[in-house]
Amino acid sequence: NLPKVAWIGLGIMGSPMSENLIKAGYQVTGFTLEREKLDRLAAAGGTAAGSIAEAVRDADVIVTMVPASPQVEAIAYGPDGILENARSGALLVDMSSITPQTSVDLAKAAKEKGVRVLDAPVSGGEAGAIEAVLSIMVGGEQADFDEAQPLLEALGKTLVLCGPHGSGQTVKAANQLIVAVNIQACAEAVVFLEKSGVDLKAALDVLGGGLAGSTVLARKKDNFLARDFKPGFRIDLHHKDMGIVTDAARNVGAALPVGAVVAQLVASLRAQGDGGLDHSALLRGVERLSGA
Ligand code: NAD
Repeated sequence: NLPKVAWIGLGIMGSPMSENLIKAGYQVTGFTLEREKLDRLAAAGGTAAGSIAEAVRDADVIVTMVPASPQVEAIAYGPDGILENARSGALLVDMSSITPQTSVDLAKAAKEKGVRVLDAPVSGGEAGAIEAVLSIMVGGEQADFDEAQPLLEALGKTLVLCGPHGSGQTVKAANQLIVAVNIQACAEAVVFLEKSGVDLKAALDVLGGGLAGSTVLARKKDNFLARDFKPGFRIDLHHKDMGIVTDAARNVGAALPVGAVVAQLVASLRAQGDGGLDHSALLRGVERLSGA
């Protein structure tokens, strides 16, 4: 018998991920803020709930996929929240990318209610969510990870327990650092190549086959070529993640000299009104700096 799942947060990631669980045979009851996303869940074979309380009441596993720490706190705590309404013994799998400390605090508060928690943020983007090939970085107890594993296998391909509560978030923060720096490097190369008069598609094709190749380059190549910055992964969310990684690194005394600069470039795009664009729009920032 598969566990009953409640899913909170049906956005760019949560919608296709919850649909993959339905395809794998799970009963999924969902709640999110947008009516049309609830209709989409129902059309895919899930059940739309009218509130968090209603969604989580009978659930064995509660998955959350919302933007950031404040939203996780809003849905977890308070009289209408998850902890007050989940049954004792339920497992809460928070897949949002949030500060490691928020995950640690959540696990502690949940324990008092008899709810177990895993932090399980993901990498792989919208495409990885749709294709169920996400990389899932987990923090928490081994027994809870073992219990969640079959469900996580319906969502992703690489599932790793990284350590105690918060460790999944720490690894995700490192992921976001690597991705942002990589996009920035690619964006600088794109502007350099174009200004040099080289055919950009040919250049990116051959670069992709060598040591400069990366998942970032492969996935973002078409965005760069077409200047298509429809998200994907919004600059606003990457701004949030650069804040998480720079804070966490400062706390442990790790230097991020390049990461700190890229965090500023992400912040600058946001300040210029590009927060709703895909993070490949770092290219716009390089173009502005280059007078293009
Ligand atoms: P999104 O903005 O598309 O979706 C967020 C969803 O959360 C929305 O459906 C919204 O209704 C819901 N939500 C917010 N507050 C809520 C509340 N109080 N109650 C119920 N629902 C609420 O965001 P996304 O792109 O799906 O990202 C979700 C998380 O996954 C973020 O932490 C992000 O950093 C992370 N992430 C995103 C990607 C990506 O490529 N988009 C990749 C990896 C990780």
